[in-house]
Amino acid sequence: RFFVSKMFIESFKVDSPNVKYSESEIHSVYNYETTELVHENKNGTYQWTVKPKSVKYEFKTETHVPKLGVMLVGWGGNNGSTLTAGVIANREGISWATKDKVQQANYFGSLTQASTIRVGSFNGEEIYAPFKSLLPMVNPDDIVFGGWDISDMNLADSMARAKVLDIDLQKQLRPYMESMVPLPGIYDPDFIAANQGSRANNVIKGTKSEQLQQIVKDIREFKAANKVDKIVVLWTANTERYSNVICGLNDSEESLFTSLEKNEAEISPSTLYAIACILENVPFINGSPQNTFVPGLIDFAIRKNSLIGGDDFKSGQTKMKSVLVDFLVGAGIKPTSIVSYNHLGNNDGMNLSAPQTFRSKEISKSNVVDDMVASNAILYEPGEHPDHVVVIKYVPYVGDSKRAMDEYTSEIFMGGKSTIVLHNTCEDSLLAAPIILDLVLLAELSSRIQLKAEGEGKFHSFHPVATILSYLTKAPLVSSSGKVPFVPPGTPVVNALSKQRAMLENILRACVGLAPENNMILEYK
Ligand code: NAD
Repeated sequence: RFFVSKMFIESFKVDSPNVKYSESEIHSVYNYETTELVHENKNGTYQWTVKPKSVKYEFKTETHVPKLGVMLVGWGGNNGSTLTAGVIANREGISWATKDKVQQANYFGSLTQASTIRVGSFNGEEIYAPFKSLLPMVNPDDIVFGGWDISDMNLADSMARAKVLDIDLQKQLRPYMESMVPLPGIYDPDFIAANQGSRANNVIKGTKSEQLQQIVKDIREFKAANKVDKIVVLWTANTERYSNVICGLNDSEESLFTSLEKNEAEISPSTLYAIACILENVPFINGSPQNTFVPGLIDFAIRKNSLIGGDDFKSGQTKMKSVLVDFLVGAGIKPTSIVSYNHLGNNDGMNLSAPQTFRSKEISKSNVVDDMVASNAILYEPGEHPDHVVVIKYVPYVGDSKRAMDEYTSEIFMGGKSTIVLHNTCEDSLLAAPIILDLVLLAELSSRIQLKAEGEGKFHSFHPVATILSYLTKAPLVSSSGKVPFVPPGTPVVNALSKQRAMLENILRACVGLAPENNMILEYK
């Protein structure tokens, strides 16, 4: 299949001595061009030298696309039901009447399904291809959905409860979703807001160890019953409060498992689901802000080389922030005050109205500008930081249609001030659902990629703490203080959205032997 429009191709193959396509894998050799810095102390002042450095990498990507099962924790919530409904609607080619037009199902908002990459030029025209054409990825049509919820409502009723999708669409989807019923979940009222209690009618009884074993059993049974090759689990359940990270309780793998045996109260439900996934070598992604990944859990994931990713879907306000502050600081403008108000009226908003769960959200939203501020010592003194305040209020009437209002004040030339105000109204779950899809598809894909640098004996997978997913999450994994990064040792925390997207795209390009997108367009200079 070739051109569908002048500027767009649906798929491509790379022809290069550095790339070999075989029956089962794509093998590429890739020169990673980077820099190394050295300094010398000359009479008390440092002199810096930058040395370009080229490191040869090899990538191997398994091309067989597995049958994928996706198990959502909080399946019956707004995000879980909206994603399930959206994938079915796309798969079945459903259209529905709105007051404006006949709407077709689509994947707008999904990086993998609805964005493109530039592949080169042809006859003087820039040619684009779907992002998903870079490497073989699971087709969302083929995903089998399942999961847990502390509410026993079937997915058709959950979709109605969520009040997100148009009613004509809901009517068409109902027959597909009525028989989908979440498995009982792990409920601990100490970790989510008290206002969720009335929803919890579908819970796993027993000690923490017994609950954990039940989740392991659920994963195995789901895999067997649906004959899927692989499973990805993703937490889209309510935001929990932070767990206390305590020496001897959860600060090491050993202490975490000892605490589990002792049925310690401070092990959160989300940590239990994550332990079960690591035991089964199933990727686990945390879409909420809490510190599911306590230090002992991270140690465990690293030792078992089992993928963990998170935290907190980056769907709206934070995404804008990571674009706008990058632009301002990159333009030599100094943001001095960033104030973000939200109000929403869905169940997530109700849960976040409790101070402890709000605090988790506040932490995950607040570190997002740090790297951008730290990158410009012309604007900021060491340790100086813009004032950054986040407010979230629960307003039932607006339902899932979240309002986000932001005010950015910056210092400009010669003491001037510039204030930018944004107001965004948007269905929260329609932003989150495509991101959930991208997270599971990219987590699955990344588990089929192996790499090795020049001098490394063996191929290995990516580091189990999946920073490759950072474009889609608000906060790379952080500890309980919200300060200490728990990404691979020495990894810089990058929040600027364009850098995160470039990182992901360029790594996938490297897997097929394509140079990173450098935007130089020298051909025309
Ligand atoms: P929701 O309240 O509609 O859904 C959460 C579901 O989780 C509920 O059905 C609830 O019954 C269930 N649940 C709670 N605790 C559980 C447990 N321990 N085990 C199993 N099920 C459990 O919320 P939502 O709008 O779907 O959002 C889900 C999460 O995603 C929230 O934590 C939210 O903060 C986070 N998030 C959402 C967005 C977004 O929607 N744009 C962005 C970033 C993060």
